Amino acid sequence: MASCSDTYGRPIQYLRVSVTDRCNLRCVYCMPEEGIPLIPREDVLRYEEIVRVVRVAVEMGFVHVRLTGGEPLARKGIVDLVRELARIPGLDDLSMTTNGILLARYAEDLARAGLRRVNISLDTLRPDRFRRITRWGRLEDVLEGREAALAAGLRPVKINTVVVRGLNDDEVVDLARLTLQPDWHVRFIEVMPLGEGAHWAGDGVVPSAEIRARIEAALGPLTAVRGEAGAGPARYYRLPGAEGTLGFISPVTEHFCGGCNRLRLTSDGRLLPCLLSDLAIDLRTVLRAGADDETLREIFRRAVVAKPRGHHLAEEPVPAARPMSQIGG
Ligand code: SAM
Ligand code: SF4
Repeated sequence: MASCSDTYGRPIQYLRVSVTDRCNLRCVYCMPEEGIPLIPREDVLRYEEIVRVVRVAVEMGFVHVRLTGGEPLARKGIVDLVRELARIPGLDDLSMTTNGILLARYAEDLARAGLRRVNISLDTLRPDRFRRITRWGRLEDVLEGREAALAAGLRPVKINTVVVRGLNDDEVVDLARLTLQPDWHVRFIEVMPLGEGAHWAGDGVVPSAEIRARIEAALGPLTAVRGEAGAGPARYYRLPGAEGTLGFISPVTEHFCGGCNRLRLTSDGRLLPCLLSDLAIDLRTVLRAGADDETLREIFRRAVVAKPRGHHLAEEPVPAARPMSQIGG
């Protein structure tokens, strides 16, 4: 099997594929309520184009593909895309990050089509607050979606929680406590100052170290979990007696780039070497001009080489070319 390493020796094996920039929610730290510029439909990669790009990536040594958005379940025919991707030999792990709203409807079909597991974004356990954060979502739909995912075997289901001071940081202990129950894995993410997230730059960021201290004060000491597969920039721990894991993703306060193992493909066919940089390499134009596989591989190699050693959030202007809803997290 081929393999890809970047200039700093990091193995790059994980491709996040944003299939749409549209979403059925409007989380306050991600999208404005209205007026967001959308990618024109003709610029969005067709499913057969995505399948081809992923096949080339897998031949180069990528083994994990995660579908994201916008909201991936909001794109029509998503189960067909999953089925086609799951057939690619060498793709070991096909997963999805979703807000969970439509998951109860699709979980069974996704599992049958070959999806392995899902991450669900959930920032609060309070219905009224959920509505406020997402602007119109129903918490109940997400909880039902999670149950459906587990019943369909899309395991483990990991919960992603963006923590924002004054918005939901008073719930970190309640969310962490969930991991004492079977099948709950929760990851806390520092809010990043991209797009709408910029409203919470500075004081709104709750450092992972602070979240961790609050959890330990309430629930006991955390033990590090080693060797979590494909962990990337997350660090994993367990509460005393817990089956589930607690993860911390600290893009703002810690050097999380050392473990970066990914490239991103946007729905308009750009390869992004780094989440926190405006660097974008156009794949769509050559793809649509009839490029052969070797030309596509060359573009992947360029993107891997262009991966910076680390981000520069502290010293440089925050990347502004794309909102998080186009990057896909
Ligand atoms: N719609 C899907 C969802 O919400 O899971 C997938 C796309 S969403 C952009 C992917 C992840 O990015 C979510 O977990 C979301 O919470 C996170 N996210 C969005 N804006 C963020 C920000 N400003 N800082 C940190 N995480 C953010
Ligand atoms: Fe949509 Fe996900 Fe962004 Fe929320 S975080 S607005 S669900 S893309």
